[in-house]
Amino acid sequence: MAHEPIVIAGGGIGGLGAALALGRAGHPVRLFERAEEFREIGAGIQLGPNIWAMFDRLGVQDAMAAQAAFPTALVMRCAVHGHEVTRVPLDGMRERYGEPYAVIHRGDMLQVLLEACRATPGVTLETGHTVTGYVQDAGGVTVQLEEAVPAARGAALIGCDGLWSKVRAQLVGDGPPAVSGHIAYRAVLPMAAVPEGIPRDVVQLWAGPRLHLVHYPLRRGELMNLVAVFHSSHYHEGWDEAGDTALLWRHFEGTRPEVRALLERIETWRFWVLCDREPKRGWTQGRVALLGDAAHPMLQYLAQGANMALEDAVCLADQIGAQGGDIAAALPAYEAHRVLRAGRVQITARIFGDIYHAGGVRAELRDQWLADRDPVTAREAMAWLYETPRWPGAPG
Ligand SMILES: Cc1cc2nc3c(=O)[nH]c(=O)nc-3n(C[C@H](O)[C@H](O)[C@H](O)COP(=O)(O)OP(=O)(O)OC[C@H]3O[C@@H](n4cnc5c(N)ncnc54)[C@H](O)[C@@H]3O)c2cc1C
Repeated sequence: MAHEPIVIAGGGIGGLGAALALGRAGHPVRLFERAEEFREIGAGIQLGPNIWAMFDRLGVQDAMAAQAAFPTALVMRCAVHGHEVTRVPLDGMRERYGEPYAVIHRGDMLQVLLEACRATPGVTLETGHTVTGYVQDAGGVTVQLEEAVPAARGAALIGCDGLWSKVRAQLVGDGPPAVSGHIAYRAVLPMAAVPEGIPRDVVQLWAGPRLHLVHYPLRRGELMNLVAVFHSSHYHEGWDEAGDTALLWRHFEGTRPEVRALLERIETWRFWVLCDREPKRGWTQGRVALLGDAAHPMLQYLAQGANMALEDAVCLADQIGAQGGDIAAALPAYEAHRVLRAGRVQITARIFGDIYHAGGVRAELRDQWLADRDPVTAREAMAWLYETPRWPGAPG
């Protein structure tokens, strides 16, 4: 067991998940978050069956379930003609994978992780500190913080500092992430303001040429989460900016009245320029490793970025256990167990984006292909992702 703490850069879902997994395994942890307080921007997050097993390992399954909403189906409709393309009932998920499919408010998810970290002995959380770099030697890592703050010494450094990771910049040095040319506008609507005819208890995706809209309930059905995505080269860089509504309207002009009725209820949007990276090995070096978006940023079309970050967190703690506390041996094992799975999600997410955003004959072919699938086939197609991943050191 390490005496020096494991230092974590970043306190998003990945960083707090890692702090919790490591703390519960008995490792002292020191987490530095750049922001003055822990917070998540944007409203909703989908929770595949695979994340529920991780919640169980982190001891937060009941607390998450109390905050989550459990939609009845995943539905895809054509955003131009309105027909239902496919529907996957979600009641079978529990039967098939032993865990549900759910949605949750990001703030609620972060709060559950935060409270669990605070209740775990040995986990120290420090906000208002930016990790700027590190120097490692055979015995540990010296983690540099912003000017005038003494460096922190640790047994290891885990870079959970997201898409624009400073730890990745030093460790991998592969430049900024890839701008996809897709932009997401996000907003929430009180459920009472949702127009008639829009189902309130499903995750519904309206697919159209070079665009889509997803909506689903949040906070026990009090809110509706909306994410509108379209292709544009208009913005090259940006994060959590106020969205230009006129631009959104131009892109959604040709869509169904139901889609536009939903969009027009929103006054303020936040926009995200969606980025990812090509999957790549080399997330670990000596006593430094990357986790979550810092390691494998992905487009959100499989709704798995946070799911993967928590799988990473649990796997990392398990590998340190499996290696008898030898962190230098555990980090390459962690990467080896994660890289192909996360890489498959990175690549498949791009393909799902192409499927959602198809137009013309491509869209007709998509509809024909998806219409031929029954719910069992549709659920089975996701078994590679939704089954609980296995690695050494995991119980059972
Ligand atoms: C539109 C959209 C929809 C999505 N939907 C889903 C979904 O339904 N399901 C799902 O699983 N995923 C979804 N995702 C992906 C998911 O949000 C991310 O994959 C996940 O939040 C990544 O968590 P993280 O902790 O790795 O990184 P982040 O959430 O980016 O957290 C990084 C943290 O590190 C801090 N930080 C940054 N730099 C430093 C530094 N130098 N020093 C200290 N702290 C630092 C930041 O302030 C932040 O708190 C979606 C993403 C988008 C954009």
